[in-house]
Amino acid sequence: MPSAQPLPPTPTRLPRADRIQNFRPSVFTETRELAERHGAIDLGQGAPGLSAPRALLDDAMAAIAEGHNQYPPAAGLPELRRAIADSRLRRSGIRYDADREVVVTAGATEAVTAALLALCNPGDEVLTLDPCYDAYEAAASLAGARLVAVPLATEGDRFCLDEAALRAAVTPRTRLLLLNSPHNPTGKAFTAAELAAVARVCLDHELTAVTDEVYEHLVYDGAGHHSLASVPDMRERTLVVSSAGKTFNVTGWKVGWACGPDRLVGAVLSVKQFLTFASGTPFQLAVARMLGDEEEAWTAELRSTLQRHRDLLRTGLEQAGLRTYRCEGGYFLQADVRGVGYLDGARFCRDLPARAGVAAIPCSAFRHGPQNPHTDRLVRFSFCKPADVVREATSRLTGKWRA
Ligand code: PMP
Ligand code: GLN
Repeated sequence: MPSAQPLPPTPTRLPRADRIQNFRPSVFTETRELAERHGAIDLGQGAPGLSAPRALLDDAMAAIAEGHNQYPPAAGLPELRRAIADSRLRRSGIRYDADREVVVTAGATEAVTAALLALCNPGDEVLTLDPCYDAYEAAASLAGARLVAVPLATEGDRFCLDEAALRAAVTPRTRLLLLNSPHNPTGKAFTAAELAAVARVCLDHELTAVTDEVYEHLVYDGAGHHSLASVPDMRERTLVVSSAGKTFNVTGWKVGWACGPDRLVGAVLSVKQFLTFASGTPFQLAVARMLGDEEEAWTAELRSTLQRHRDLLRTGLEQAGLRTYRCEGGYFLQADVRGVGYLDGARFCRDLPARAGVAAIPCSAFRHGPQNPHTDRLVRFSFCKPADVVREATSRLTGKWRA
């Protein structure tokens, strides 16, 4: 029987911890809502509109039907840990012990968050590059640490590392360096020379590195992926994070992982066991099979498809009057809005859905540091969508500002 008593009044001031005071609904959610309101094509969130490999989907469904539906070990299914270690050995020449040096996580997000929680004390500083993926600041904040983001420099149409600025940002409180390559949101893929420079900073200051390599298979124009862990002397101080989401177009599965020396992987595991313990048994099994059998062929095909979509988007944006930055990897292109009469990317993104029926995200949404005149006029467009969607989006943009 329902109680006749009135509901207690809702407290107006519910407590909220200091460490989440700055947490707001993510820019991806906001942009999606804005796009829906205006019936706009959403080139904001990096959510793939391309299909996943058929065999991967069939394997997951078979795994569910066969009853693989209970908790996996906290570190992840041994089949998947072995497949991850084999894949890294094949592609980067680095050997990881599947039992002690690989941990499966609920997406790369959990790996990064668990790493910061496991490795930082309150007051420590985490060095990264600006702009950066939004989860980094949140993860640092949950750990009580401070994110220190060093602006990427720009040279012509490309972003580049400023080694001197990175070095100058190191303090006695710097605990670790968090590097993302290929980089979200700029589309930069760090070169071997730039990684050597990052490694020098880490080695000189005895920093641990966490590298977010979720777009590792998506480096374009024939330039291969370089991992910081491959630089001499870096394997032993680097935790490499990646994920199946972007590699196989299954971002909703949230199968990620971290590889590194057992000291680092063990620390991540000790935290992640209390965040999620474990997740996604049938998905882990399916990803294990895919990494073993078909990874190379699938990723080569995906890379060439996305490179074509990048080129379609770039040509379309340029025709619409937006000058683009070079995209060397990942899902995103940055475009400068000054060519269409705007000075500020955020302003442009507010107007864009109503004006052109397209949604995108201002680069400033990923800025951690103070206002930056170079990057605040940029807007991030994602091209991980079917070719006709990219074409339609750019045709909607064309002619909107140059009547
Ligand atoms: N790191 C970067 C740089 C990203 O762009 C994303 C978004 N996919 C993630 C991590 C999150 O990865 P996952 O979905 O595997 O948690
Ligand atoms: N990584 C995706 C992006 O940058 C979004 C992930 C998310 O929605 N949290 O667009």
